[in-house]
This record gives sequence, structure tokens and C-alpha cells, in this order.
Amino acid sequence: MAYKQKSNDLDATLARLMSDVIITNPSISNKTQERKSELFSSEPIEKEIKKEIEKKEIKKETVKEVKEIVKEIKEFKEEKAKDNPERNSRRPAARGGMIRRKESQKPAKSENRERTQTKNRDSSSKRKTSLKIISLGGLNEIGKNMYVYECGNDMFVVDCGLAFPDQDMPGVDIVIANTSYIEKHAAKLRGVLVTHGHEDHIGAIPYFLKNFDVPIYATRLTIGLIEGKLKEHGLLKNAKLNIITHRQTVKLGCMTAEAIRVNHSIPDSVAFAIHTPAGVVVHTGDFKMDYSPIKGGIIDLARFAELGNKGVLALLSDSTNSERPGYTMSESKVGESFQKLFVSAGNRRIIIASFASNIHRVQQIVDTAAKLDRKVALSGRSMINVVSKAIELGYLSVPKGVLVDIDDAVKIPHEKIIIVTTGSQGEPMSALSRMAANDHKDVSVTEDDFIIISATPIPGNEKNVTKVVNDLLRLGAKVIYETMYEVHVSGHACQDELKLMLTLTKPRYLIPVHGEYKHLKRHGEIAVDLGMAPENIHVGEIGQVIEIDNVDMRVTGTVPAGQVMVDGLGVGDVGSIVLRDRRILSQEGLIIVVSSIHRDSGKILSGPDIVSRGFVYVRESEELMDEARAIAVKITQEHLTKGVRDWAVIKQAIRDEMGGFIYRRTKRSPMILPVIMVVN
Ligand SMILES: [Zn+2]
Ligand SMILES: [Zn+2]
Repeated sequence: MAYKQKSNDLDATLARLMSDVIITNPSISNKTQERKSELFSSEPIEKEIKKEIEKKEIKKETVKEVKEIVKEIKEFKEEKAKDNPERNSRRPAARGGMIRRKESQKPAKSENRERTQTKNRDSSSKRKTSLKIISLGGLNEIGKNMYVYECGNDMFVVDCGLAFPDQDMPGVDIVIANTSYIEKHAAKLRGVLVTHGHEDHIGAIPYFLKNFDVPIYATRLTIGLIEGKLKEHGLLKNAKLNIITHRQTVKLGCMTAEAIRVNHSIPDSVAFAIHTPAGVVVHTGDFKMDYSPIKGGIIDLARFAELGNKGVLALLSDSTNSERPGYTMSESKVGESFQKLFVSAGNRRIIIASFASNIHRVQQIVDTAAKLDRKVALSGRSMINVVSKAIELGYLSVPKGVLVDIDDAVKIPHEKIIIVTTGSQGEPMSALSRMAANDHKDVSVTEDDFIIISATPIPGNEKNVTKVVNDLLRLGAKVIYETMYEVHVSGHACQDELKLMLTLTKPRYLIPVHGEYKHLKRHGEIAVDLGMAPENIHVGEIGQVIEIDNVDMRVTGTVPAGQVMVDGLGVGDVGSIVLRDRRILSQEGLIIVVSSIHRDSGKILSGPDIVSRGFVYVRESEELMDEARAIAVKITQEHLTKGVRDWAVIKQAIRDEMGGFIYRRTKRSPMILPVIMVVN
């Protein structure tokens, strides 16, 4: 066992050194790189190193380190030989990842054979360095994405998002992932990689940085949005934020991650190719393939293909739209619809609701507005924040004079203005919901308004959106939403795009991510249709430790994972009991039974009195409340007469008796809270 550990450590160190060499000397040709990786596995290591040194392609410090490692390998071999003579002829367990790739392309048949062999204890020594992938969020849900990659003594996290609470979490602001596993291994943590700036990928970063002081790597816009968040939490000063660009490599211990451009509904989104001692893992992040994007270039399909040709060990790919056949339409399509709709709005004021982060959408609105000689005003805090950040960083170009303040917008004739607002999901406090409720301080909706909802309701939000649409229609406005025109396209890949990603990267294993169970499952089926062996696809759960090595992919354990609820300043202090109480309170109401009792004599000095909230309207239920009160009096009295002075016993008896009575009479189960004030 000690050997295995040691071999893993060596593997990891070697890989780190190799990547050092490659990074410090980018001019090294592919061929040399290959030789370098072989260098660590072939027998006459010293000789090879000498040659390399002569060629001066390795830094001095690296050479020193390599020498040490070589010494260690020798010792390791000797030790091993002593212990297990018949295996002596084998090469050391430590081998570079690049060689492994060839093995990773073995046909499924021989792999199955290896699989069965793993049942023998003997074959465990065949395993080389393994990579652990643990999802702490993002599986069986759309939200709080967080994936841990761990190899040897190094670990990093991809994405750090939040989820919004659902109906059964009253009072909870946001939900984040349980990071106790990372806490336990904090010394290994090398950093956080972020794929793009959506809340389900960056929203938990402030909470994460409060626990872990590690660098964050993301593209420019993503970093810009993270900065805004950290500023709000007062964490910006000490944060180690690093801007990376497409095709740039980040070294994280023995692993390196390379950013690859993808298309999505927010600019500057990337996938990561993660080079590990066990092989290359492609982590797509949220993506689609847009051949006519508004800005920023087409997804880097060539790079995915290159990686695929060299050999990809595993693919973690976006499953959001795996149920939808065909392709996701290009964002440009929406611009065409806008042009037509804006013209058809005639002299009416135009109000468009969209996601604040969909900067390309805003760009198309601005461009069309400028063409039609309309001004644009922004409404909603997140819309104003994101748009100003995007303008500042050059992701959004607005012709001079087009953007006006919302306060000035009301003075501009209706045919000359477009208001871009948040609230496309019918969020109750959003600008659009306020307009629909006639409660917006600047905008009152009339029949003179032409309203476009440029988004699809996220599952769960349909009711809210329908309510907003109904309210706006009632106010007389014309309302356009997705089902009527192409005013929205998704940011996620549909089936044909998923197939293309699988075909290009040719992974040995597929782990569908970013989706509910049905999405993950469907994504797996798509891969099977393409000829992938079902046993090479893992539809997982959060908290599962997925281990991949040269032999197979398997679940080797679980770690704590779940929902950490954030309520105001409290992180994780709202647990299942608090939630249960809140649910009862919100659904059934509360009854408080108050009495004061003299400690020594056990005499009731006052009460029991009954106060209720959210249960029944007391004035109309006087009889019921009187009866309930009588029960409380009776029980308290009985206990006191019997000499009971354990107040908890009396409280429990009141709870039981009164609960039963109220349920029989009303079929409701309010929370009953007996309060006994003891007077000396
Ligand atoms: Zn996204
Ligand atoms: Zn997402």
C-alpha cells in the first residue's frame, strides 16, 4: 500500500516537472515533448537527462529536481525489488501522462478484460496514477456547479456557483455547495478555475474565498464580474484574481489546465482541457456552437479535435439541452427578429426583458435601436451593473448618445425609446414584475407599450412569468414572448452539438454534467448511439468520488455534499430543522400558549393565554380559541396538582393535547409553542 502511495506521489511530481519543462520552454517541439515524457519511463534515465541538459532545454532548477527524482525512483525500485522479486523486471510505476494516453485508446474489449481482472487483488498493482473527479454541485440539478479535480498531492476546483432556493426553502437567499471535503484537504488546493460569469458558476466565490485563500483563474469578463461580487463582500483587496485567455495554460501542481474558447449566452466563456498524470480531461463548461456569434469568435473546434486525436481520457460535458434535437440557433437570429419586431412596434414604447449577463443580446438591442433612431435606457440593478462592466471592459460597444438614464427616458417620446430591463424570469422583485404590478417608480405600463420577453422561463419559473405576462396584458400592453417569435435562443448545446463534441474529443469516458437526472441520462444515451460502451459512461451524483486510471473508471467512495443554505449573513446555519419550522410556520401558522407559574407554590399566576399568527383569524374563531385555551388550562392544572415541576413535561403535554384537538377540529397542524414564565 505504501508503494502505491509512493508511486502516485512520484507520478505526480514527474508530471509536474514535465509540465514545468514545457511551460518554461514553449519553443520545444512536439517531438521533444514526447521524448521528454518517455524520458521518465525509459531505463537509461540519466543518459537521457544528460542529453537534454546539453541541449539546454531544461532549466537548472528543474534539472536539480529531476536528479532528485531519479534518485528516488532508484530507491523505490530497489525497495520494490526486495519486496516483490518477480515483478522486478517491470518499469517503475511512475510514468508520464502522455504515454498513458496511448493506453487509454485501448478498445473496449481488452478494457473489459482489465476490468474483470481488477477483481483480483493482484491486479491492483497494475494501476497507475489515478485522477479523482468529485462533483460537489451541478449533477442532478442546474445550479451551484463545482467540480473537484484531485491527483496526487494536488487539487483544484472548476467553477464555484450558487443555486437559487426552491419553494420548500422559505427565507433562504441562496444555496451553495458543501465544501467540507476541500476543507479537509485544503493543503492540496491549488486554485479555482472558472468557465464563465453566470451565477451558477461564480455565485459562491465570495463564500469560497472566505474559507480558502487561493488564486482564481478566469477570462477577463468573468474576472470583471467576480470583482463586482467580491467588492460587495469586501473581499476584493486580498483576492488573487488572474486573467487568462483562450489557449493559455495554468499550472496547478501536477496538473495543468488549458482554456479553450466556447460559445455561450455570456461572452468570454471557456472550456478547460485538464492535463493530468492520468490523462487529459476535457471539461466543457456551458457551451454551444455558434458559427455567427455577435462577437468574440467561434468555438475553438480545432483545439477540441487536436486533443481528441492525441487522446482524451474523459469528457465532462454540458447536458442542459440534451433532450433537444438538432442545433441551437445562432444568437444572430435574435437580432433579425428584433429588427422586425421593433419596426412593427410603430410609435409605441418598447420594453425588453432579458438576462443581464446576455451581453450579446443587449448589443443587438443597442445596434437595432441605433439603426431605428431610438435611445436605450436600462432598468434593474443587475442590468445596470453588468452592462456598465461590459462597456468598461470593451465587451459591449454603444454608439455615443444612444444610452440614456432611466430618469431621462420618461421625458423621451415613446417612439424614440427602448427600455432594457431585468425580470425575464418573472422574479417577484425585478423591474419587469414591478412594472406589471404598476409599482415601478419610473415606468407605468399602458396600451402604448410594446413588451418583449427575450428569454425562456427556467423550469420552475413558468408560473411567475405567466403571471407577469397576464398582468402586462391587463394593463393593455402588447406582449411578445418566445413561443410567438424567435426572440430568444438558448446558450446550451443541443443533441447535434453534443454529438460533435463527442466525435471531436473521442473520450474514453463520458461524465455528463450540468443537468437534471433526465438530461444527464439522455446525454449518456446520445454517446451510446455514437458507439460508446455504456460502461464507459457515468451518470453520477454529487459527492461521488470518481476515480479514473489506466485500468478503468469507478466510484471509490463518497464525500459530504449537499446544500448549504445562505440566509442573510448566516452561511450554513439554516439546516433541515429550521427549514421544517419555517415550512410549518408558513403553511400552518403558529400558536403560542403563554402562562406564568409561581415556582414554589406551583400556582398559575396568569394564563394560559393563546396568541396565534397565520393560523386562523381569531375574531371569527373565538369559540375554537376558547376551547383550545381551556385544554391548556386543564393540562397545566392537572400536572401542577400532581406535583410536576419539570416544565418540559408540561409543555410537551400541552403540545400533544392541543395539537390533537386543533387537528380534529380544523385538519391543520400549526406549530404550538408553549411558553412558561416561572416567577419566584
Ligand atoms: Zn452558463
Ligand atoms: Zn451553467
